[in-house]
Amino acid sequence: MNFSSKLLEQAVGEFGRLPGVGQKTALRLVLHLLKQPDADVLRFTDALCRLKQDIRHCAVCHNISDNDICEICASLKRDKGLICVVEDTRDVMAIENTGQYHGVYHVLGGLISPMDGVGPSDLQIDSLVRRLEAGGVQEVILALSATMEGDTTIFYLYKKIKDFGISISTIARGIAFGGELEYVDEVTLGRSIATRVPYERNIA
Ligand SMILES: [Zn+2]
Repeated sequence: MNFSSKLLEQAVGEFGRLPGVGQKTALRLVLHLLKQPDADVLRFTDALCRLKQDIRHCAVCHNISDNDICEICASLKRDKGLICVVEDTRDVMAIENTGQYHGVYHVLGGLISPMDGVGPSDLQIDSLVRRLEAGGVQEVILALSATMEGDTTIFYLYKKIKDFGISISTIARGIAFGGELEYVDEVTLGRSIATRVPYERNIA
């Protein structure tokens, strides 16, 4: 692409680095922003700056949060005895959208994937074990995607926590799973959490 302006080229280059955004789309977005009132563009850039500067990860569940402890962990209405283990914040959002889950979460920050060089120590697994050691948890739901990485992670977690005397369950994964929880519709996801099954039964 031949740009008439270095500034334009730079902005298009930055947008073009976003996932799923090609050069043409990047140019369209930048030209759109150029047409907007200054205040709108400032609000946009301010939101991005503050996102990176001010966002935190909940000290308990590691979900993305505005505060040291996220709203879910801080809520008195949530059942702290029920922990749903998920890969990332998108899964928390998907499950929250079902409106059918009233426990808390634990966000691993990824899945074990030897191919990608991701081992257990790269994930929030030790802190999950510490949460369980602290007591008061009756059930752990392993809501991870039906992929090889998901299976590997579930099995690793199962071995880590099976001796705690806590129920371990997985969500029904035979249904319309594209692999990632975020793609499952709310009704299906809600139902699969409600009809979760003990993990032991799966590996028998
Ligand atoms: Zn939290």
